[in-house]
Amino acid sequence: MSGERQSRREIVFFGRMLHDRGYVAAMDGNLSVRLDEERILATPTAMCKGMMRPSDMVIVDLEGRCLAGRRCVSSEIGMHLLIYKMRPDIGAVVHAHPTTATGFAAAGMALTQPLVSEVVVGLGSIPLARYGTPGTPELWEALEPFVPEYDAILMSNHGVVAYGGDLHQAYMKMETVEHFAQIALVTHILGKQEPLGGNDLEKLILARSRYQGNRSAARLPVAMSCGSLDDSRDLARKDPESALSDVVSKPRVTRPR
Ligand SMILES: [Zn+2]
Repeated sequence: MSGERQSRREIVFFGRMLHDRGYVAAMDGNLSVRLDEERILATPTAMCKGMMRPSDMVIVDLEGRCLAGRRCVSSEIGMHLLIYKMRPDIGAVVHAHPTTATGFAAAGMALTQPLVSEVVVGLGSIPLARYGTPGTPELWEALEPFVPEYDAILMSNHGVVAYGGDLHQAYMKMETVEHFAQIALVTHILGKQEPLGGNDLEKLILARSRYQGNRSAARLPVAMSCGSLDDSRDLARKDPESALSDVVSKPRVTRPR
C-alpha cells in the first residue's frame, strides 16, 4: 500500500478513536500527516472525525495551499504547518478537545507538576499556551515558543495539540495528556499532591534518554520545584517566555522557515 493511501486510512482510524473516546464533539478537532518534504495530508473542515472516509482528506503544501482534494482543509491547518516547519522530526499532528485536559486549559492551569513517573518520561510536562482566536495567527503565535521544547501543549480556553514521529505516536500523546489530566484532577479533588522531586526526578530524566519509545527531538522539560496548584496557575498566566524560564532551563526557540 502506498504511503499516502496508508496515511489516509490511519487518519480515518485515529479520527474515529478521537470521536469514540469523546476527545472531540460534532466537527471538532483535526489531524494531519507529513507525506514528504512538501506535502501535508490533513482532515477537511466541517466534518465529524468519526465519520470520515479516506477520500475526504485534503493535501496542502507547507504554505497551506490546496494541492488535492474535493473539500476545504481544516481552518486550523496553520497550527499544523507551524509545527511541521519548526520540528523536522515531527510526522503527524493531532488537535482535539478532550474534556479533562481542556477543563484544565479553561481553568488557566498547566499540567506541569511531576505527579506521574510515566508522564515525566514520556512527555516531560504539558505547558499552557495563552489564548489565541482559533484559525488565526494569534493562535499559532501563542504556541510557537513551546513547540521546540514540548510534544503536547494545552491551549487556553480551547483544547490540546499533540505531535509525534507518526500518527500513532501523536495520538498516544493525546491519550497520555487526557489520562494525566484525569489523574491530576483526582489529586485536586483529594486536596493533596505529592509531586516527584529531587533524586527520583533526576533518575527519571536520566531514564528518559534510554527510553526506547521516546524519539522526540524536544527536551521535554520537567518542573523541578514541587510547587503548589497556585504555582501551576501562575506559570500558566505568565507570558510563554517567562513561564519557560521557570522550568529546568531556557528554551532554544527555532523560528519557522
Ligand atoms: Zn480546536
